[in-house]
Amino acid sequence: MTPGRPVPPPLGKPLILAEPPVEPAPADAPAARGTLTAAMGATSAGSGLRPLTLARREPKDDDVEIDIEYCGLCHSDVHATRGEWGSRPYPLVPGHEIVGRVRRVGSAVEDFHVGELVGVGCLVDSCRECESCLEGLEQYCERGNVGTYGVKDPRNGGAITQGGYAGTIVVDRRFVLRVPEGMDPASTAPLLCAGITTYSPLRYFDVEPGDVVGVVGLGGLGHMAVKIAKAMGAEVVVFTSSETKTAAAAELGADRVVLSRDPGAMEAAKASIDVIIDTVAAPHDLNPYLRALRLGGALFQLGLPPSDMPPVSPGLLIRRRLAYSGSLIGGIAETQEMLDFCAEHGVASDIEVVDAAGLNSAYDRMVAGDVKYRFVLDTKTLHTPSEKADA
Ligand SMILES: [Zn+2]
Ligand SMILES: [Zn+2]
Repeated sequence: MTPGRPVPPPLGKPLILAEPPVEPAPADAPAARGTLTAAMGATSAGSGLRPLTLARREPKDDDVEIDIEYCGLCHSDVHATRGEWGSRPYPLVPGHEIVGRVRRVGSAVEDFHVGELVGVGCLVDSCRECESCLEGLEQYCERGNVGTYGVKDPRNGGAITQGGYAGTIVVDRRFVLRVPEGMDPASTAPLLCAGITTYSPLRYFDVEPGDVVGVVGLGGLGHMAVKIAKAMGAEVVVFTSSETKTAAAAELGADRVVLSRDPGAMEAAKASIDVIIDTVAAPHDLNPYLRALRLGGALFQLGLPPSDMPPVSPGLLIRRRLAYSGSLIGGIAETQEMLDFCAEHGVASDIEVVDAAGLNSAYDRMVAGDVKYRFVLDTKTLHTPSEKADA
Protein backbone atom coordinates (compact mmCIF):
# COMPACT_ATOMS: atom_id res chain seq x y z
CA MET A 1 0.00 0.00 0.00
CA THR A 2 2.33 2.63 -1.28
CA PRO A 3 0.44 5.70 -2.41
CA GLY A 4 1.67 7.15 -5.69
CA ARG A 5 1.82 4.03 -7.84
CA PRO A 6 3.04 4.47 -11.44
CA VAL A 7 0.59 6.43 -13.55
CA PRO A 8 -1.03 4.85 -16.62
CA PRO A 9 0.62 5.53 -19.99
CA PRO A 10 -0.40 8.68 -21.89
CA LEU A 11 -2.95 8.55 -24.68
CA GLY A 12 -0.45 9.25 -27.39
CA LYS A 13 0.80 12.20 -29.37
CA PRO A 14 -1.01 15.40 -28.41
CA LEU A 15 -3.05 17.04 -31.13
CA ILE A 16 -2.85 20.73 -31.87
CA LEU A 17 -6.19 22.26 -31.06
CA ALA A 18 -7.74 24.61 -33.55
CA GLU A 19 -9.23 27.73 -31.99
CA PRO A 20 -12.52 26.38 -30.66
CA PRO A 21 -15.63 28.13 -31.97
CA VAL A 22 -17.52 29.62 -29.05
CA GLU A 23 -21.10 29.10 -30.16
CA PRO A 24 -22.77 25.95 -31.47
CA ALA A 25 -23.69 25.93 -35.12
CA PRO A 26 -27.20 27.28 -35.75
CA ALA A 27 -29.89 24.62 -35.51
CA ASP A 28 -30.73 24.94 -39.20
CA ALA A 29 -27.15 24.53 -40.47
CA PRO A 30 -27.43 21.42 -42.65
CA ALA A 31 -23.74 20.44 -42.49
CA ALA A 32 -23.89 19.89 -38.72
CA ARG A 33 -26.70 17.36 -38.88
CA GLY A 34 -25.77 13.72 -38.45
CA THR A 35 -27.81 10.67 -37.65
CA LEU A 36 -31.00 11.22 -35.69
CA THR A 37 -31.51 9.07 -32.63
CA ALA A 38 -34.15 8.66 -29.95
CA ALA A 39 -33.25 9.91 -26.47
CA MET A 40 -34.69 10.76 -23.08
CA GLY A 41 -33.74 14.13 -21.66
CA ALA A 42 -34.83 17.20 -19.77
CA THR A 43 -36.00 20.40 -21.46
CA SER A 44 -35.86 22.43 -18.24
CA ALA A 45 -34.95 21.92 -14.58
CA GLY A 46 -38.55 21.04 -13.80
CA SER A 47 -39.50 19.09 -16.92
CA GLY A 48 -38.49 15.63 -15.82
CA LEU A 49 -37.22 13.32 -18.55
CA ARG A 50 -39.19 13.18 -21.75
CA PRO A 51 -38.69 11.72 -25.24
CA LEU A 52 -36.42 13.81 -27.48
CA THR A 53 -34.71 13.34 -30.81
CA LEU A 54 -30.96 13.96 -30.92
CA ALA A 55 -28.80 14.70 -33.94
CA ARG A 56 -25.45 12.95 -33.53
CA ARG A 57 -22.54 14.19 -35.63
CA GLU A 58 -21.40 12.21 -38.65
CA PRO A 59 -18.38 10.19 -37.50
CA LYS A 60 -15.13 12.02 -38.28
CA ASP A 61 -11.88 10.18 -39.11
CA ASP A 62 -11.14 9.35 -35.47
CA ASP A 63 -14.73 8.76 -34.34
CA VAL A 64 -16.52 5.63 -33.27
CA GLU A 65 -20.29 5.54 -33.66
CA ILE A 66 -21.91 3.28 -31.09
CA ASP A 67 -25.35 1.66 -30.92
CA ILE A 68 -26.05 2.05 -27.20
CA GLU A 69 -27.55 -1.02 -25.53
CA TYR A 70 -27.57 0.02 -21.86
CA CYS A 71 -26.86 3.16 -19.88
CA GLY A 72 -26.58 3.30 -16.10
CA LEU A 73 -28.42 5.95 -14.07
CA CYS A 74 -26.00 7.93 -11.90
CA HIS A 75 -26.91 10.34 -9.10
CA SER A 76 -25.16 13.10 -11.01
CA ASP A 77 -27.70 12.60 -13.83
CA VAL A 78 -30.45 13.54 -11.38
CA HIS A 79 -28.58 16.61 -10.10
CA ALA A 80 -27.73 17.76 -13.63
CA THR A 81 -31.14 17.34 -15.25
CA ARG A 82 -32.88 18.94 -12.28
CA GLY A 83 -30.49 21.91 -12.32
CA GLU A 84 -29.29 21.18 -8.77
CA TRP A 85 -25.65 21.81 -9.62
CA GLY A 86 -26.19 25.19 -11.25
CA SER A 87 -27.82 25.99 -14.53
CA ARG A 88 -27.31 23.58 -17.40
CA PRO A 89 -27.96 23.95 -21.09
CA TYR A 90 -31.28 22.41 -22.09
CA PRO A 91 -32.36 20.21 -23.73
CA LEU A 92 -30.06 17.91 -21.79
CA VAL A 93 -29.71 14.17 -22.32
CA PRO A 94 -27.84 12.65 -19.35
CA GLY A 95 -26.04 9.32 -19.05
CA HIS A 96 -22.35 8.46 -18.68
CA GLU A 97 -22.36 4.73 -18.02
CA ILE A 98 -22.70 3.62 -21.62
CA VAL A 99 -22.28 0.15 -23.12
CA GLY A 100 -23.07 -0.68 -26.72
CA ARG A 101 -21.76 -2.05 -29.99
CA VAL A 102 -19.70 -0.30 -32.62
CA ARG A 103 -21.92 0.66 -35.54
CA ARG A 104 -19.48 2.62 -37.74
CA VAL A 105 -15.91 3.85 -37.45
CA GLY A 106 -14.07 6.77 -39.06
CA SER A 107 -11.34 6.19 -41.63
CA ALA A 108 -8.48 6.57 -39.11
CA VAL A 109 -9.89 4.11 -36.55
CA GLU A 110 -8.01 0.84 -36.56
CA ASP A 111 -8.41 -0.32 -32.97
CA PHE A 112 -12.22 -0.70 -32.94
CA HIS A 113 -14.32 -2.82 -35.26
CA VAL A 114 -17.99 -2.92 -36.21
CA GLY A 115 -19.98 -5.14 -33.84
CA GLU A 116 -17.46 -4.95 -31.00
CA LEU A 117 -18.79 -4.37 -27.44
CA VAL A 118 -17.51 -1.04 -26.12
CA GLY A 119 -18.10 1.44 -23.33
CA VAL A 120 -18.07 5.19 -22.77
CA GLY A 121 -17.79 6.70 -19.31
CA CYS A 122 -17.84 10.23 -17.93
CA LEU A 123 -15.35 11.77 -20.40
CA VAL A 124 -15.52 12.17 -24.18
CA ASP A 125 -12.50 14.45 -24.62
CA SER A 126 -9.87 16.61 -22.89
CA CYS A 127 -7.14 18.99 -24.07
CA ARG A 128 -4.83 15.98 -24.64
CA GLU A 129 -1.70 18.07 -24.06
CA CYS A 130 -1.55 19.35 -20.47
CA GLU A 131 0.51 17.54 -17.86
CA SER A 132 -2.51 15.64 -16.50
CA CYS A 133 -3.64 14.50 -19.95
CA LEU A 134 -0.13 13.39 -20.90
CA GLU A 135 -0.01 11.32 -17.72
CA GLY A 136 -3.28 9.59 -18.58
CA LEU A 137 -5.20 11.56 -15.98
CA GLU A 138 -7.68 13.18 -18.37
CA GLN A 139 -10.24 13.54 -15.58
CA TYR A 140 -7.93 16.15 -14.03
CA CYS A 141 -7.29 17.96 -17.36
CA GLU A 142 -5.95 21.37 -16.46
CA ARG A 143 -8.14 23.03 -19.09
CA GLY A 144 -11.20 21.11 -17.97
CA ASN A 145 -12.21 17.69 -19.26
CA VAL A 146 -15.08 17.41 -21.73
CA GLY A 147 -17.85 15.58 -19.89
CA THR A 148 -20.11 13.13 -21.70
CA TYR A 149 -23.11 15.44 -21.39
CA GLY A 150 -24.02 19.05 -20.79
CA VAL A 151 -20.76 20.81 -21.72
CA LYS A 152 -19.30 22.48 -24.82
CA ASP A 153 -17.24 20.19 -27.01
CA PRO A 154 -14.37 22.34 -28.38
CA ARG A 155 -13.31 19.90 -31.10
CA ASN A 156 -16.87 19.69 -32.39
CA GLY A 157 -17.83 23.26 -32.98
CA GLY A 158 -18.67 23.94 -29.34
CA ALA A 159 -21.77 21.77 -29.60
CA ILE A 160 -23.21 20.70 -26.25
CA THR A 161 -22.38 17.08 -25.46
CA GLN A 162 -25.39 14.78 -25.00
CA GLY A 163 -25.21 11.56 -23.02
CA GLY A 164 -26.21 7.96 -23.14
CA TYR A 165 -29.96 7.84 -22.55
CA ALA A 166 -30.11 7.51 -26.32
CA GLY A 167 -29.95 5.06 -29.18
CA THR A 168 -26.50 6.06 -30.43
CA ILE A 169 -23.46 8.16 -29.55
CA VAL A 170 -20.39 9.30 -31.51
CA VAL A 171 -17.12 9.50 -29.54
CA ASP A 172 -13.45 9.97 -30.43
CA ARG A 173 -11.69 6.58 -30.34
CA ARG A 174 -9.31 7.81 -27.61
CA PHE A 175 -12.23 7.95 -25.18
CA VAL A 176 -13.85 4.64 -26.09
CA LEU A 177 -13.28 1.64 -23.80
CA ARG A 178 -13.15 -1.99 -24.78
CA VAL A 179 -15.59 -4.23 -22.87
CA PRO A 180 -13.89 -7.60 -22.42
CA GLU A 181 -15.47 -10.68 -23.96
CA GLY A 182 -17.98 -12.41 -21.70
CA MET A 183 -19.00 -9.36 -19.65
CA ASP A 184 -22.73 -8.76 -19.36
CA PRO A 185 -23.49 -5.43 -21.09
CA ALA A 186 -26.17 -4.26 -18.64
CA SER A 187 -24.33 -4.94 -15.38
CA THR A 188 -21.06 -3.65 -16.85
CA ALA A 189 -22.52 -0.22 -17.65
CA PRO A 190 -22.31 1.14 -14.05
CA LEU A 191 -18.62 0.24 -13.91
CA LEU A 192 -17.99 3.19 -16.25
CA CYS A 193 -18.73 5.69 -13.45
CA ALA A 194 -19.48 3.97 -10.13
CA GLY A 195 -16.87 1.29 -10.78
CA ILE A 196 -13.97 3.52 -11.82
CA THR A 197 -14.75 6.14 -9.16
CA THR A 198 -14.13 3.57 -6.44
CA TYR A 199 -11.41 1.58 -8.26
CA SER A 200 -9.17 4.61 -8.80
CA PRO A 201 -8.58 5.59 -5.14
CA LEU A 202 -8.18 1.92 -4.14
CA ARG A 203 -5.49 1.52 -6.81
CA TYR A 204 -3.91 4.85 -5.91
CA PHE A 205 -3.57 3.60 -2.33
CA ASP A 206 -2.27 0.32 -3.80
CA VAL A 207 -4.66 -1.89 -1.84
CA GLU A 208 -3.44 -5.46 -1.62
CA PRO A 209 -4.33 -8.67 0.22
CA GLY A 210 -4.18 -8.14 3.97
CA ASP A 211 -5.21 -4.49 3.84
CA VAL A 212 -8.40 -3.45 5.57
CA VAL A 213 -10.72 -1.24 3.50
CA GLY A 214 -13.58 0.69 5.05
CA VAL A 215 -16.58 1.71 2.95
CA VAL A 216 -18.92 4.44 4.18
CA GLY A 217 -22.37 4.30 2.59
CA LEU A 218 -23.84 1.39 0.67
CA GLY A 219 -25.40 2.88 -2.46
CA GLY A 220 -24.30 2.74 -6.09
CA LEU A 221 -20.71 3.73 -5.31
CA GLY A 222 -20.47 1.91 -1.99
CA HIS A 223 -21.57 -1.46 -3.33
CA MET A 224 -18.93 -1.23 -6.08
CA ALA A 225 -16.27 -0.27 -3.53
CA VAL A 226 -17.09 -3.40 -1.50
CA LYS A 227 -16.90 -5.70 -4.52
CA ILE A 228 -13.72 -4.19 -5.97
CA ALA A 229 -11.91 -4.07 -2.62
CA LYS A 230 -12.82 -7.72 -2.01
CA ALA A 231 -11.56 -8.62 -5.49
CA MET A 232 -8.27 -6.88 -4.60
CA GLY A 233 -7.98 -9.25 -1.66
CA ALA A 234 -8.76 -6.76 1.09
CA GLU A 235 -10.79 -7.30 4.21
CA VAL A 236 -13.83 -5.02 3.91
CA VAL A 237 -15.63 -3.19 6.68
CA VAL A 238 -18.87 -1.38 5.80
CA PHE A 239 -19.93 1.61 7.88
CA THR A 240 -23.65 2.23 7.69
CA SER A 241 -26.13 4.32 9.65
CA SER A 242 -28.91 1.86 8.97
CA GLU A 243 -29.18 -1.51 10.69
CA THR A 244 -31.28 -2.75 7.79
CA LYS A 245 -28.24 -2.73 5.51
CA THR A 246 -26.23 -5.21 7.57
CA ALA A 247 -27.45 -8.29 5.69
CA ALA A 248 -27.07 -6.57 2.32
CA ALA A 249 -23.47 -5.64 3.11
CA ALA A 250 -22.68 -9.23 4.01
CA GLU A 251 -24.31 -10.44 0.79
CA LEU A 252 -22.00 -8.16 -1.19
CA GLY A 253 -19.00 -9.72 0.53
CA ALA A 254 -18.30 -7.35 3.42
CA ASP A 255 -16.44 -9.05 6.27
CA ARG A 256 -17.79 -6.76 8.97
CA VAL A 257 -20.44 -4.10 9.36
CA VAL A 258 -20.11 -1.21 11.80
CA LEU A 259 -23.21 0.73 12.75
CA SER A 260 -21.96 4.31 12.58
CA ARG A 261 -24.63 5.58 14.99
CA ASP A 262 -23.39 3.23 17.71
CA PRO A 263 -20.55 4.96 19.65
CA GLY A 264 -19.45 1.64 21.16
CA ALA A 265 -19.12 0.01 17.73
CA MET A 266 -17.20 3.02 16.41
CA GLU A 267 -14.89 2.92 19.45
CA ALA A 268 -14.25 -0.78 18.83
CA ALA A 269 -13.28 0.02 15.22
CA LYS A 270 -10.68 2.59 16.32
CA ALA A 271 -7.31 2.39 14.50
CA SER A 272 -8.29 -0.75 12.58
CA ILE A 273 -8.62 0.36 8.94
CA ASP A 274 -5.99 1.16 6.28
CA VAL A 275 -8.09 3.13 3.82
CA ILE A 276 -11.65 4.42 3.90
CA ILE A 277 -13.75 5.09 0.81
CA ASP A 278 -16.46 7.55 1.86
CA THR A 279 -19.30 7.62 -0.68
CA VAL A 280 -21.81 9.69 1.27
CA ALA A 281 -22.81 12.88 -0.56
CA ALA A 282 -24.65 14.50 2.36
CA PRO A 283 -22.70 16.67 4.83
CA HIS A 284 -21.42 14.50 7.68
CA ASP A 285 -18.71 14.42 10.35
CA LEU A 286 -15.58 12.63 9.10
CA ASN A 287 -13.73 12.64 12.43
CA PRO A 288 -15.25 9.38 13.70
CA TYR A 289 -14.00 7.70 10.50
CA LEU A 290 -10.55 9.26 10.78
CA ARG A 291 -10.35 7.75 14.28
CA ALA A 292 -10.95 4.34 12.68
CA LEU A 293 -7.80 4.69 10.53
CA ARG A 294 -4.48 3.07 11.36
CA LEU A 295 -1.15 4.89 11.29
CA GLY A 296 -0.56 6.19 7.75
CA GLY A 297 -4.14 5.53 6.71
CA ALA A 298 -6.17 7.58 4.24
CA LEU A 299 -9.76 8.64 3.82
CA PHE A 300 -10.96 9.34 0.27
CA GLN A 301 -14.11 11.38 -0.02
CA LEU A 302 -16.02 10.63 -3.24
CA GLY A 303 -19.44 12.17 -2.64
CA LEU A 304 -19.76 15.91 -3.21
CA PRO A 305 -22.01 17.42 -0.52
CA PRO A 306 -24.13 20.42 -1.50
CA SER A 307 -22.98 22.39 1.57
CA ASP A 308 -20.10 22.65 4.05
CA MET A 309 -19.15 19.74 6.30
CA PRO A 310 -18.02 19.78 9.94
CA PRO A 311 -14.26 20.54 10.02
CA VAL A 312 -11.71 17.74 10.04
CA SER A 313 -9.59 17.71 13.21
CA PRO A 314 -5.94 18.48 12.36
CA GLY A 315 -4.90 16.69 15.57
CA LEU A 316 -6.35 13.43 14.28
CA LEU A 317 -4.47 13.79 11.00
CA ILE A 318 -1.20 14.71 12.70
CA ARG A 319 -1.13 12.11 15.44
CA ARG A 320 -1.42 9.17 13.05
CA ARG A 321 -0.06 10.74 9.85
CA LEU A 322 -3.42 10.35 8.14
CA ALA A 323 -4.30 11.61 4.68
CA TYR A 324 -7.65 13.19 3.88
CA SER A 325 -8.16 13.14 0.14
CA GLY A 326 -10.70 13.29 -2.65
CA SER A 327 -10.78 11.49 -5.97
CA LEU A 328 -12.57 12.03 -9.28
CA ILE A 329 -13.52 9.08 -11.55
CA GLY A 330 -10.39 7.83 -13.38
CA GLY A 331 -8.41 8.37 -16.59
CA ILE A 332 -9.06 6.44 -19.78
CA ALA A 333 -6.17 3.99 -19.40
CA GLU A 334 -7.14 3.33 -15.79
CA THR A 335 -10.79 2.85 -16.74
CA GLN A 336 -9.71 0.20 -19.24
CA GLU A 337 -7.55 -1.39 -16.54
CA MET A 338 -10.60 -1.41 -14.24
CA LEU A 339 -12.80 -3.11 -16.87
CA ASP A 340 -10.13 -5.76 -17.46
CA PHE A 341 -9.78 -6.25 -13.70
CA CYS A 342 -13.55 -6.64 -13.26
CA ALA A 343 -13.70 -9.12 -16.15
CA GLU A 344 -10.88 -11.15 -14.61
CA HIS A 345 -12.45 -11.17 -11.15
CA GLY A 346 -16.09 -11.50 -12.19
CA VAL A 347 -17.04 -8.12 -10.73
CA ALA A 348 -20.22 -6.45 -12.00
CA SER A 349 -22.80 -4.07 -10.63
CA ASP A 350 -26.04 -5.27 -9.03
CA ILE A 351 -28.66 -3.70 -11.23
CA GLU A 352 -32.34 -3.17 -11.87
CA VAL A 353 -33.10 -2.66 -15.57
CA VAL A 354 -35.65 0.06 -16.35
CA ASP A 355 -37.40 1.03 -19.54
CA ALA A 356 -37.57 4.57 -20.90
CA ALA A 357 -41.07 5.16 -19.53
CA GLY A 358 -39.86 4.27 -16.04
CA LEU A 359 -36.95 6.73 -15.87
CA ASN A 360 -38.71 9.46 -13.89
CA SER A 361 -39.92 7.11 -11.19
CA ALA A 362 -36.46 5.50 -11.14
CA TYR A 363 -35.04 8.97 -10.40
CA ASP A 364 -37.45 9.40 -7.49
CA ARG A 365 -36.48 5.99 -6.14
CA MET A 366 -32.76 6.84 -6.46
CA VAL A 367 -33.26 10.00 -4.45
CA ALA A 368 -35.08 7.94 -1.82
CA GLY A 369 -32.20 5.40 -1.79
CA ASP A 370 -34.61 2.71 -2.97
CA VAL A 371 -32.49 0.71 -5.42
CA LYS A 372 -30.12 -2.22 -5.13
CA TYR A 373 -27.81 -0.80 -6.35
CA ARG A 374 -27.95 0.77 -9.78
CA PHE A 375 -30.68 1.38 -12.33
CA VAL A 376 -29.74 0.70 -15.94
CA LEU A 377 -31.77 1.94 -18.90
CA ASP A 378 -32.50 -0.59 -21.63
CA THR A 379 -32.29 1.58 -24.76
CA LYS A 380 -34.43 -0.87 -26.76
CA THR A 381 -37.37 0.71 -24.94
CA LEU A 382 -36.73 4.19 -26.36
CA HIS A 383 -39.31 5.58 -28.78
CA THR A 384 -38.65 5.96 -32.50
CA PRO A 385 -36.85 9.26 -33.23
CA SER A 386 -38.91 11.92 -34.94
CA GLU A 387 -37.82 13.35 -38.28
CA LYS A 388 -36.54 16.56 -36.77
CA ALA A 389 -34.00 16.93 -33.98
CA ASP A 390 -34.93 18.56 -30.65
CA ALA A 391 -31.29 18.80 -29.56
ZN1 LIG B 1 -21.70 9.20 -12.59
ZN1 LIG C 1 -5.54 18.38 -20.45
